Amino acid sequence: MIVSEKVRNLHPYVPGEQPKDRDYIKLNANENPYPPAENARKAVIEFIEKHPEKMGLYPDPDSCELNKEIASLLNKTGGVLCRAAVAPDGSVTPSERDRIPFEVTPDMIYSGNGSDEVLSFLFYAFFDSSRRFVMPQFTYSFYPVYAGFYNIPMELVPLKDDWSLDVPQMLAKAEKDGGGIIFANPNAPTGIGMSREEVRSMIKKAPSDSIFIVDEAYVDFGGESCIPLLAEFKNLVIVRTFSKSLCGAGMRLGYIVSSPELVATVLTVKNSVNHFPIDALAQVAGRASCQNPAYYCKCAAAVVQERDKFYEFLISKGFYCIKSQTNFLFAKKDGIPGSEIYKRIKEEGILIRHFNTPGIEDFVRITIGTPEQMALLKAAFEKCIC
Ligand SMILES: *Cc1c(COP(=O)(O)O)cnc(C)c1O
Repeated sequence: MIVSEKVRNLHPYVPGEQPKDRDYIKLNANENPYPPAENARKAVIEFIEKHPEKMGLYPDPDSCELNKEIASLLNKTGGVLCRAAVAPDGSVTPSERDRIPFEVTPDMIYSGNGSDEVLSFLFYAFFDSSRRFVMPQFTYSFYPVYAGFYNIPMELVPLKDDWSLDVPQMLAKAEKDGGGIIFANPNAPTGIGMSREEVRSMIKKAPSDSIFIVDEAYVDFGGESCIPLLAEFKNLVIVRTFSKSLCGAGMRLGYIVSSPELVATVLTVKNSVNHFPIDALAQVAGRASCQNPAYYCKCAAAVVQERDKFYEFLISKGFYCIKSQTNFLFAKKDGIPGSEIYKRIKEEGILIRHFNTPGIEDFVRITIGTPEQMALLKAAFEKCIC
């Protein structure tokens, strides 16, 4: 057998489909329907035209300038774009609820090649075969894939009847083995968020010598960021991405916010796997994006507005739909399996997501698009579902 047993036992992640046969409207991978800001696009072009020689040189291995800009973006916005106020001159202020009571500094940031890669380094850094992790039964489905890859035992805790996290059960499991905890907040694919206070009281009761990871991929669309809790908890790691709220899924940029000590640990892992995870162009685009928070605040606010409108539409058509703090909706309708809804909408040229996973097969997950895309989706639902 040429292939190792390790690899024969892998169960790779299956992303939302990326079709090549037809130009579908893509509302199946929680991407942002808006392009990156103009200044980010221009920065990349300028970099190529003015510094072609840099394309032949290695990029900054630690993306120091990018980390500075990320820290500054978080300080300016409070880490929740949809609620930050945008002044006519383009300056941005966090809402009172989101203000971070200390300055986020660049040494609190580690950035990598998409948060998927960042997560893989976190799994490597903070778990092993004798240190299990606890996660909700339904959350980002890449976490169990990493558990398989790194041979880490995991404990899945079913969600409650209202699809929120069963915090007491998660804590009980973590306490039993001194295990770490990971979940997305707001969670996927449900769209439900926990408040910062709820997370605070959860971390207080979790093992303090194990890692506590909160994945904030969707927080910019209405959740509450746990960044302010970093002042209190040394075992907290917050994971964030450019792929959703910063219109940058194609650039592959993700990062953590944590203590400088834990950031240094992740750097050690990174420097043992891939010294240069972020290419020169992505660093340029990422830096420029962070310098234009006003644009992304407006995009996030537009997505939130469309989301709440489509929620009302689905409810009015007899759907069960979970109130969402993200850029997607999770919905089902009695009498029509999720696979059937997905199929009929696909025939109309629009892709949404359906999961074959037992327990959520009835649901579809709908990424929120532009007003034009959502009008087409609404027409498709009216034609073939409602
Ligand atoms: C989309 C998503 C990610 C992955 O983001 P990338 O930065 O594109 O790798 C991570 N976690 C959650 C919960 C996500 O939804």
